[in-house]
Amino acid sequence: MRYLSTRGHADRKRFCEILLEGLAPDGGLYLPESYPQVDGAQLEQWRQLLREQGYAALAFEVLSLYIDDIPADDLRALCAKTYTEQVFGSKEIVPVRPLEDGLLIEALSNGPTLAFKDMAMQLLGNLFEYELGRRGEQLNILGATSGDTGSAAEYAMRGKQGVRVFMTSPNGRMSPFQQAQMFSLLDANIHNLAIEGVFDDCQDIVKAVSNDLEFKRRYKIGTVNSINWARLLAQVVYYFAGYLYATESNAQKVSFAVPSGNFGNVCAGHVARMMGLPIEQLVVATNENDVLDEFFRTGIYRVRGSADTYETSSPSMDISKASNFERFVFDLLGRDGARVKALFGDALNSEGRFDLSADPHFAQAAARYGFVSGKSTHANRLDTIRDTYQRFGQMIDTHTADGVKVAREHLQPGVPMIVLETALPIKFAATIVEALGQEPTRPAKFEGIEALPKRVQVMPADVAQVKAYIEAHCAD
Ligand SMILES: *Cc1c(COP(=O)(O)O)cnc(C)c1O
Repeated sequence: MRYLSTRGHADRKRFCEILLEGLAPDGGLYLPESYPQVDGAQLEQWRQLLREQGYAALAFEVLSLYIDDIPADDLRALCAKTYTEQVFGSKEIVPVRPLEDGLLIEALSNGPTLAFKDMAMQLLGNLFEYELGRRGEQLNILGATSGDTGSAAEYAMRGKQGVRVFMTSPNGRMSPFQQAQMFSLLDANIHNLAIEGVFDDCQDIVKAVSNDLEFKRRYKIGTVNSINWARLLAQVVYYFAGYLYATESNAQKVSFAVPSGNFGNVCAGHVARMMGLPIEQLVVATNENDVLDEFFRTGIYRVRGSADTYETSSPSMDISKASNFERFVFDLLGRDGARVKALFGDALNSEGRFDLSADPHFAQAAARYGFVSGKSTHANRLDTIRDTYQRFGQMIDTHTADGVKVAREHLQPGVPMIVLETALPIKFAATIVEALGQEPTRPAKFEGIEALPKRVQVMPADVAQVKAYIEAHCAD
């Protein structure tokens, strides 16, 4: 399997090369040259495998279709080490439970930081340690987070040999629980940088540093942002698992509703669907930051400035542009790298938008690729949390509530809708209290974390200062 850039660069790379890189040299994102096809017989085998040997065995099967430069036994061991009941809280790893008629919830948020990003990040931590050890190299991970990515990355990388983490986050914009989760990690290889700005300022800093190829090479800068292909690939596995848990035969189709921000999670659903998983619809649910909903409704992709990026009660979806969206557009436009470069490299930079409404490809987003969308507001979120608790006794977090709200608008008779639960309510306690008048339950291991000592450096949204900090702490 070789990987190419969405912007048409001529290089073809193997999995372990792109594992430790961020963007492709031309600023594009990596995708496999083709999607391996999973036919009915294969899916039937996987159904049995999942039942008999569990999630880690399924993960190995999916991953090995895309990774041919790690020996099979090593890859199998990495999967087995990652997806354990001890780390993810249940034997199923991503248990699926019914909510109401036709609607199910797949729990992706029972890992160490209680958000779905653990699903990919825990694997990434083990892949990084393996590959760096094999090469005898070091890596400095530079990331941007609005909360969940950062803590998932830090919990996956803490104490790992050869890895340092420099994690930027928008100062003061994460929930107290999220801040406590991240800033209370005192491991020497973990550095928290609180940037005075919004999430996209953090993301822009990461991109600027990554685009400085000389700096990137000298300080061995890598990324764990959602643009990393390995993360996306790890996420593909739980679409297969969710499908297999929710159905009894491969004759059935399901739809997935996905609380979306950077389009990473739902892009993995797109990949699973391209591989042949019987997915009817991929329902993109946004909050008030509705960049993606606007695109799927109108064909216009319009990024927002900092001032138009709202701080919402589902903050992990507070984005002004969707960094993984380019991958889908590449497929949508028939994998025309030159065209993607013109849209994402040129039009977005100069005009902040592009318009595909008159392009015949746009109609295929729904017709051929199954995408539909919707948005949710703070009021919708409170209603959904309240309703779901009162009628079904289930407490869901604010992001999952956005997913449930939009899922209900796209239900089709005879097609189960699986909503991905992306976080546990405890991470966003203030909104739960607003909706229900009571505190969400807190897992015992997080008792009292807000009171722990914190380690964090506040700094302005300035690329040069972030670079200087990395230089100064690279030899620690
Ligand atoms: C990151 C995150 C999302 C958004 O996922 P994307 O892959 O960025 O679309 C949704 N919910 C939660 C809880 C998250 O942490």
